Amino acid sequence: MPVNPDPQPNRSRKIANIALWVATGLLLLNVVAPFLFGPTIAKEPYSMFIHRVQDQEVFRASVGQNEIRYQVKDAEGQPGEVYATTPIFDLQLPQLLEDNGVEFAAVPPPKGQWFGSLLSWVIPPIIFIAVWRFFLARGNGPQGALSIGKSKAKVYVEGENGKITFDDVAGVEEAKAELVEIVDFLKTPKRFTDLGAKIPKGVLLVGPPGTGKTLMAKAVAGEAGVPFFSISGSEFVELFVGVGSSRVRDLFEQAKKQAPCIIFIDELDAIGKSRASSGFYGGNDEREQTLNQLLTEMDGFDAGDTTVIVLAATNRPETLDPALLRPGRFDRQVLVDRPDLKGREAILNIHAKEVKLADTVDLKQIATRTPGFAGADLANLVNEAALLAARRNSRQVEQQDFAEAIERVVAGLEKKSRVLNEKEKEIVAYHEVGHALVGAVVPGTDQVEKISIVPRGMAALGYTLQLPTEDRFLRDEAELKGQIATLLGGRSAEEIIFGHITTGASNDLQRATDLAEQMVTSYGMSQVLGPLAYDRAQRNTFLDNGMGSTRRPISEETAKAIDDEVKSLVEAGHQYALSVLRHNRDLLETLSKQLLESEVIEGEALREQLKQVQIPAAEAQCFNGVPLTTA
Ligand code: ADP
Ligand code: MG
Ligand code: ZN
Repeated sequence: MPVNPDPQPNRSRKIANIALWVATGLLLLNVVAPFLFGPTIAKEPYSMFIHRVQDQEVFRASVGQNEIRYQVKDAEGQPGEVYATTPIFDLQLPQLLEDNGVEFAAVPPPKGQWFGSLLSWVIPPIIFIAVWRFFLARGNGPQGALSIGKSKAKVYVEGENGKITFDDVAGVEEAKAELVEIVDFLKTPKRFTDLGAKIPKGVLLVGPPGTGKTLMAKAVAGEAGVPFFSISGSEFVELFVGVGSSRVRDLFEQAKKQAPCIIFIDELDAIGKSRASSGFYGGNDEREQTLNQLLTEMDGFDAGDTTVIVLAATNRPETLDPALLRPGRFDRQVLVDRPDLKGREAILNIHAKEVKLADTVDLKQIATRTPGFAGADLANLVNEAALLAARRNSRQVEQQDFAEAIERVVAGLEKKSRVLNEKEKEIVAYHEVGHALVGAVVPGTDQVEKISIVPRGMAALGYTLQLPTEDRFLRDEAELKGQIATLLGGRSAEEIIFGHITTGASNDLQRATDLAEQMVTSYGMSQVLGPLAYDRAQRNTFLDNGMGSTRRPISEETAKAIDDEVKSLVEAGHQYALSVLRHNRDLLETLSKQLLESEVIEGEALREQLKQVQIPAAEAQCFNGVPLTTA
């Protein structure tokens, strides 16, 4: 059983913390007191004083224990300015002064104060030593106490320990493209500033864990050939109050001296958590101070004159304080997402170089079998396979090792519910194609741009991306109905193909219902209810996106009528989706199979396929009472 060396770590930490600050305060007071309580006199370094003496510039000096004050000659050789310096123990000094004709005298130590002054110099070190021993005894080591306020940033310099380049990162091409641009900024800032382009200050890498955010930042360092300060957000938040913010300050100070350079803050969420979300007690003061300091520093330098670019990474962007995302701070966000099929193969290729592969190994096939794997999972997979091969006493890693490794890794990941099994994948494929087919024929100008069954984020298993081809501010009734039908396309496809439905469509249904509700209650698009607005309670809140639940200050009958209208709108969309999909069942099948294979279908290839969707005759004329025309 592990022994807890300190039953009350928080309390003793606090006490140690306070003791340290008291000690520091006392010491500081010693240094500061002469300035506070005496007239302010310009200070010069001791070496300067000696130079002045040797150059015979000094008129007279008064040598005290803690300070030497001296008056220099002015241009006419008359007594002028008075300066002070801190003495060093120097037995040669009187001789030197005498040789250079300086009039000097010693200042007697003030009587009766020696005891107090002795205490003030002796006690703080004793406290320091006590705290020190306290930490040593707890086995923590004194690092915390030693490095107070110093930034712990590690500086990577080009060429150091096998530099990482963009070639070591794969499967995240869009993010890479963005960062290549950042590297260009740093290499030839002039090229951009000459054009009047503003160099970005902060770039935030956002994406699930293990997708290569940290790796990518290191690659930027390797490519850019500029100093690279790397620190993790958690390292700012430390034992001693006030340390985090002074570390931030120190970090930026160092960086500005070395500009152009990059600061990389990994796990930004550790300091950047929203101040609003930090709870009832006003949150964690320390973290808040650190965050504020970071904001101040980022505002403090102008991207124009010092080329310091702040990179940061997080896998929890939703927890970040919005202040961090404002213009002039991390105004660029780069999505580092899980790789698709091609990306996974590329990543496997990179990591397979580290092991001895048999010729028979088919990395493409392995990539096909690992949807949802992030880069780190794939690196782990290669390593597991190598371990299994070693266990077999094989000299090479074979396909069978990979097969077994996949099972192991998947078992681990399934606990984190990130990986779809074959059946689920199939359902998701049909579901997404269902959305796309319906989306292709309904009125409106949104084009279906991409269908994907690579899991994204926490909720969505797959997605269908529709892009508006022009900016739209107004949508007509037919278009809204079309949107509802499209939303129901996924579920309808599941119904047709599998005869039953899954939980995957719940978000679609929510959105369809909300949309229908808005049509009835705020757009006046219902024949039954007329052109009235029924949702006054909802109007003024910021939730005015249809997502909030509506509490209508209305009669029960009206409420019932609204419910009926909403239901019939959604049901009409459902029927429409069903008939489109039944009519185009062959296309639904082929496209879904294709999607299962490639995981992503997009762009021109997708548009070609979708052109083949036919509108069923009956519905071509009418959609719940509204004439339907394809755009
Ligand atoms: P993150 O910071 O996003 O959590 P890391 O950069 O720490 O992920 O990734 C951990 C390891 O996984 C990397 O060191 C690398 O070996 C591997 N890896 C992750 N993503 C990729 C990728 N896109 N390409 C190649 N290797 C990757
Ligand atoms: Mg990381
Ligand atoms: Zn859906």
